[in-house]
Amino acid sequence: MSFHSLNEIITAAAEQKKPFFRIVMEDDMSERMVSEEETFSAMRHMYDTMGRADESYDGTLKSASGLVGTDGQKLEEALKAGNTISGSFMSQVMIRALKMGESNACMKRIVAAPTAGSCGVMPAVFLTYQDCFGVSGEKMTEAMFTAAGIGTVIAERAFIAGATGGCQAEIGSASAMAAGGLAYLMGGGEQEIIHAAAIALKNLLGLVCDPVAGLVEVPCVKRNVIGAVNAVTSADMAMAGITSRIPPDEVIDAMRTIGMALPCSLKETGEGGLAATPTGLKVMEELVKPERDRNRQ
Ligand code: SF4
Repeated sequence: MSFHSLNEIITAAAEQKKPFFRIVMEDDMSERMVSEEETFSAMRHMYDTMGRADESYDGTLKSASGLVGTDGQKLEEALKAGNTISGSFMSQVMIRALKMGESNACMKRIVAAPTAGSCGVMPAVFLTYQDCFGVSGEKMTEAMFTAAGIGTVIAERAFIAGATGGCQAEIGSASAMAAGGLAYLMGGGEQEIIHAAAIALKNLLGLVCDPVAGLVEVPCVKRNVIGAVNAVTSADMAMAGITSRIPPDEVIDAMRTIGMALPCSLKETGEGGLAATPTGLKVMEELVKPERDRNRQ
């Protein structure tokens, strides 16, 4: 992308009198030398694929390690039984985030947006919004471009991989992307979009990447729920006129600095945090031992 800051995108939007998503979309057209129809239908396809992945969730499946699976189903049943206090919209967001994270761990088809580990955040927020508010596929695709612009700037200025920046870079980026896209869907302009994204990212600064046994399962699946819920609350705040006191691009820069300062043990090595707890180590041993025994035979 030719933009290196959110500020550049909103400046271009103001100068050209175009919405945020159109600036991002036109930039993609010129970068990849594709037509508007081509870029739009590629993004639409990505959104539709998220929808199909959500629909194909199997509530009986467990991941190969046995660590995750069936939780999306459990929460759905709790919602149906009236046993949740989050409210219908938020409960559905949580259910979808769990389902997508579990589908990823169970090797089903997902859309990595921005990464496989954080694949539940955007669909949880976007699909639920479309379901509840009957928005067109075109509008949802515009929200996807909005999110993509935010994600690309984060990738340019900082990182989107847990291995380089910790989970703040994965779940945090996904949450910022979803928050900005949601603010757009709620009728927000450029300021609401970037402040929703900044608030979401701020709330997850410092989040470490500590997958148990090195698998994108624990704590990853449930962190998708946190990222999705955080996106909704951040968009609500931005739409109420609340801004990030720290300018959005500076929040991204802070995320980068924090990521660089994180020790390697907290960056997807599976050596620190939850992975290094007695239970985390036991899980690792249980998963590695059969493999070791097989190799010895
Ligand atoms: S804990 Fe690490 S592997 Fe899991 S979602 Fe976060 S960044 Fe990805």
